[in-house]
Amino acid sequence: MHILFAASEAVPFAKTGGLADVAGALPEALARQGHRVTRVLPLYAAVDRRAHGLKAAGRRVTVPIAGQDVTANVLVSRGPGVDTYLLDHPAFYDRPGLYGEKAQDYPDNLERFTLLSRGALALCARLEIVPDVIHCHDWQTALIPVYLKRMPEAFRGLHRSATVLTIHNLGFQGLFPMERKEVPGLPPEAFGVNGLEFYGRINLLKGGLMHADALTTVSRTYAHEIQDARGGFGLEGVLQSRRERLSGIVNGLDTDYWDPARDPYLKAGYSRQRPGGRAANRPALCRDMGLVATGPGPVLGMVGRLTDQKGVPLVLEALDELVAMGARLAVLGDGDPALVAGMRLAQERHPGRVAIRAGYDEALAHRIYAGCDLFLMPSRFEPCGLSQLIAMRYGAPPIVRRVGGLADTVVPYSERPEAATGFGFTGFSARELVECVHQALAVYGEPRKFKELRRRAMAQDPSWDAHTGEYEEVYRKAMTWARGKPMGVSSMGAG
Ligand code: ADP
Repeated sequence: MHILFAASEAVPFAKTGGLADVAGALPEALARQGHRVTRVLPLYAAVDRRAHGLKAAGRRVTVPIAGQDVTANVLVSRGPGVDTYLLDHPAFYDRPGLYGEKAQDYPDNLERFTLLSRGALALCARLEIVPDVIHCHDWQTALIPVYLKRMPEAFRGLHRSATVLTIHNLGFQGLFPMERKEVPGLPPEAFGVNGLEFYGRINLLKGGLMHADALTTVSRTYAHEIQDARGGFGLEGVLQSRRERLSGIVNGLDTDYWDPARDPYLKAGYSRQRPGGRAANRPALCRDMGLVATGPGPVLGMVGRLTDQKGVPLVLEALDELVAMGARLAVLGDGDPALVAGMRLAQERHPGRVAIRAGYDEALAHRIYAGCDLFLMPSRFEPCGLSQLIAMRYGAPPIVRRVGGLADTVVPYSERPEAATGFGFTGFSARELVECVHQALAVYGEPRKFKELRRRAMAQDPSWDAHTGEYEEVYRKAMTWARGKPMGVSSMGAG
């Protein structure tokens, strides 16, 4: 198969979250299975042109945006299995952020991701490739299925290409005022209720959900949760109506990159077979972050966006109690300024017991996974979550709220101690979090039991190779569906 990945971020080029890990590792895993994989990304300021050996591809793409032709240069990074094309349009992408700055979205995101989506299709024509499958991700590339279904005559060369849209986080939908509907250059009927319209606004993700041949999300539990009003962010009806096309495939991890035995950021390497080196990482982390390095009680680690989604308000509410129970807390993350400020206040209240580093820091993230005893992830919702997979691989049993991918990937101690890989609680309450940490501390206090738990967490196989087969199956189905009954304008109604 030839698969085109169109995404707004991918490791190692640019990253804000788990989408980048997926768009980085899944193409390579598919290429290892013998598929041809091409990737398209924007060329942000953050992309290191030299490190990735970017070269001019000798191609340009021109797409109409709000009726004006916009041209992007194309650069290419040729990888072992995957060629990555980056669309270079400095006026759109040469900025400090990927989607915005200081918690504010860029006002021209509709134009920016129209260029990415339509540019990816234009690039296929320029390169004279006809992918069997175009795999889109989140709202930023959700216009692709809309273009192919609503303007087949404009993309004639791609009439055999199937589209798959993966939802990494339903909380971000790409919402814009309806007055801007001239931007993507779609026919008016594409903005009806069977298209991009959502309560009077343009919703790019909804457009993709309505038009893609197949839909996936990043865990089975999340695939169910988003069909319910509690997890559907208003799109539950759309998802229910397309449930036969929707499946949940849990994310893998790039296990070469996330390997505690060969991790250059760590004080000392270690593995499940040779766990001894792990012990040196905790004091090093404590020194790095200004935490008390000795004494009883575990170090709890947290790495991730400091947002309501990640359950940071629960942690702030429970924090004094956690410290009173003897825990130390090492937090790395950026996000909601009020939550960052709350963490800073906690650090002032508990010097040496709570430490927060605000910002993005790849090295420190690795040191926290390797240096903490338990990893905290009490998310309100969690499509898949990668941090808990990394934490398990690095020997820090996670304490999670049992939602989405956390429910699918962590076996809680309270349920099956003999098979457990971490700890879990259900209600979104500080009380339940404290009780769960209490239980974790009890196990931590029994070195033999804790060692066994850690060993089992490290023995999980989170590699992508375990999941590529599921994607291949979805791609095959999408190809069948794409060639079956046309889902053209007439069969969908004028909207
Ligand atoms: P998200 O919802 O943000 O995608 P995931 O758990 O799926 O959450 O993925 C988060 C990824 O980003 C992990 O690889 C995590 O280590 C990394 N990460 C998140 N915040 C930071 C940060 N501030 N510094 C370094 N890495 C981070």
